[in-house]
Amino acid sequence: MITANGNYLKLPGSYLFSRIAGKVSAYSETHPEQKIIRLGIGDVTQPLAPAIIEALHKAVDEMGQAETFRGYAPDLGYAFLRETIAKEDYVSRGCQIAADEIFISDGAKSDSGNIQEIFSRDAVVGVCDPVYPVYVDSNVMAGRTGNYNEQKGCFDRVVYMPCRKENGFLPELPETAPDLIYLCFPNNPTGLAITRDALRQWVDYANKNGSVIIYDAAYEAYISGEDIPHSIYECEGARTCAIEIRSFSKNAGFTGLRLGFTVVPKDLVRGGVVLRDLWARRHGTKFNGAPYIVQRAGEAVYSPEGRSQLKDQVAYYMRNASAIRSGLADAGYEVYGGTDAPYIWMKTPDNMSSWDFFDHLLEKVQVVGTPGSGFGAEGEGYFRLTAFGTYENTLEAIDRIRNL
Ligand code: PLP
Repeated sequence: MITANGNYLKLPGSYLFSRIAGKVSAYSETHPEQKIIRLGIGDVTQPLAPAIIEALHKAVDEMGQAETFRGYAPDLGYAFLRETIAKEDYVSRGCQIAADEIFISDGAKSDSGNIQEIFSRDAVVGVCDPVYPVYVDSNVMAGRTGNYNEQKGCFDRVVYMPCRKENGFLPELPETAPDLIYLCFPNNPTGLAITRDALRQWVDYANKNGSVIIYDAAYEAYISGEDIPHSIYECEGARTCAIEIRSFSKNAGFTGLRLGFTVVPKDLVRGGVVLRDLWARRHGTKFNGAPYIVQRAGEAVYSPEGRSQLKDQVAYYMRNASAIRSGLADAGYEVYGGTDAPYIWMKTPDNMSSWDFFDHLLEKVQVVGTPGSGFGAEGEGYFRLTAFGTYENTLEAIDRIRNL
């Protein structure tokens, strides 16, 4: 008899956001009169920019004409989009990335979950703690676990790199190098970014030890600091040790449209195997391309109109981030992040646990955030608020928390 993939049974019971949704819906059923403000999930709220809508309409019309209709997209994505990305996101920043090293996908979640497939089952995986849960869960699902260490509360093959207040919420280079290292900057959930010099140390470390860095730059558009890299390829040597994952969700509001990409440089070789070719093989076998109309919409993100409209959109969210940061700091809370990322990482007051603070905010002021402990043990005692709400709701939520 066939049996289920037992690795799935090793996963924690409920995905963080389903637990939050369960609590929120239970509360609203018993308190239907209350207005709940959601600053929990990192989903955008602003509509798509006009330049993107225009590109979508044009592409839809093309799909309705025999001469311009498109069927399956090329495996790696349309050249018009890959070439635009190579030029605008990389070459213009001095990073030598070519169009055929860019793979278009339906988003960074799929790519960050799937990328582990091209690595051996016995790889040891290093992740930050707190962490975007997809990196850990996808490796556990694939059986990259080893034994469960009761004392540490984690699997042998998953090495947690603590990101604490004392180290500025940045991971430190582990003594024994993991084979695969997931880094996400600007970071979800802490909202902290890494400087170019600090990232260069990771690149040197990975090259020295033969590790591969999976660099998730989904929040790159929110960077304001000059010394913060937008891409890991701004660091010399990254072409031989790093894969970069990007998303159109947060810079352009594509959470519902779905578009992202992964960069695997041809110089990234392990055990004599060119990893770019493995990812191309995987992509060609398991993915039939992002929709043409969405790829055209993605291209519009880089047009002069698209750029200027999206700059305003990012500024809108960052105004929220700044209001959250300053509002909470003025009220005496300890707050981090929110200057190069749309997340604010706050310390819970009076040493409350993250989930207790979640319940407290929901019950007393009807504001929903995300408990830090949901992102890992080091997130305990912290709470994440997102800047993706409307400005009015954000101000109201902060007022309510201040008056607690
Ligand atoms: N990577 C990080 C760090 C994220 O926080 C998110 C979404 O919240 C994603 C990837 C997913 O992005 P996408 O919408 O492109 O799948």
